[in-house]
Amino acid sequence: MALDRRHVLTGIGAALSAPMWPVRNARAAIAPFRRKVGAIEVAVISDGTLNVPLSLALPETPSAEAAALLTSHGLPAEGMPPQINVTLVKIGGETILIDAGSGGNFQPTAGKLAENMEAAGIDPASVTKVVFTHGHADHLWGAIDEFDEERFPKASYVIAAPEWDYWIDPNTPDASPDWLKGMALGSARILKRLERKIERRKAGDAVAPGLSYVETVGHTPGHMAVMVESQGERLLVGGDVLTHPAISFAKPDWRMRADRDHDRAVVTRKRMLDRLATERLDMVGFHLPWPGHGRVERSGTAYRFVAV
Ligand SMILES: [Zn+2]
Repeated sequence: MALDRRHVLTGIGAALSAPMWPVRNARAAIAPFRRKVGAIEVAVISDGTLNVPLSLALPETPSAEAAALLTSHGLPAEGMPPQINVTLVKIGGETILIDAGSGGNFQPTAGKLAENMEAAGIDPASVTKVVFTHGHADHLWGAIDEFDEERFPKASYVIAAPEWDYWIDPNTPDASPDWLKGMALGSARILKRLERKIERRKAGDAVAPGLSYVETVGHTPGHMAVMVESQGERLLVGGDVLTHPAISFAKPDWRMRADRDHDRAVVTRKRMLDRLATERLDMVGFHLPWPGHGRVERSGTAYRFVAV
């Protein structure tokens, strides 16, 4: 692959030129959402927002149909910028991030995790482990700072083995759709950068104290949600298994551009919706309206998200 890092970053910048929404001059830090799960302290920290227009996210759905669904949920017809809600847990002496946010090289509205952590009095150097749900830029690239150093210098890392294999495969960029090619190069570079400190695990594995991987493949080949569990209480940190507050719950069959394997993603979404509703589990959705914390209820033949 002849592309160097500068080309990768330039390509991504060009692909994401004009923002669809006004870029707020978000100097004011956003305070974390906090709760406990048994003995585990949980904080959801904002990494900012993404700029993904609805027409790009939902390429196969007629825009009038998408607009009708959104307005029926009280949302603007043109959609809203997806949030980036990063979950941090403290248990025993460990401080564990579930995903690392976007870093400074992805989108100008994103990459705010470190400053929001510092504003909340959480030193990035206190992070002992980063557990990745998957390798997309908004989940992985924040592990590296603007000086190409590790943002969380004392951390070790965990990723699912099939997810590692997918991004490290030298054929992945060429086999990817155009929107994903630059990201694939960037994610491979960052994973190689972390290689000596990263463990590769599988679904069902305990990945840290109180945390285990839940198989949620489809969005990417090794996507994992993370179950946080202590003293009989549980919280599902979903990664990108359910990304939109109306579409993912009311229309889980709709194909989303970001899903690598559409059929598998639909099966995974429906299975997770059924489980969350049946077990009345609390969840955090990485891209749901801030802070993405809530529950799933059945609604007719589908579901709805209820913020809690
Ligand atoms: Zn994402």
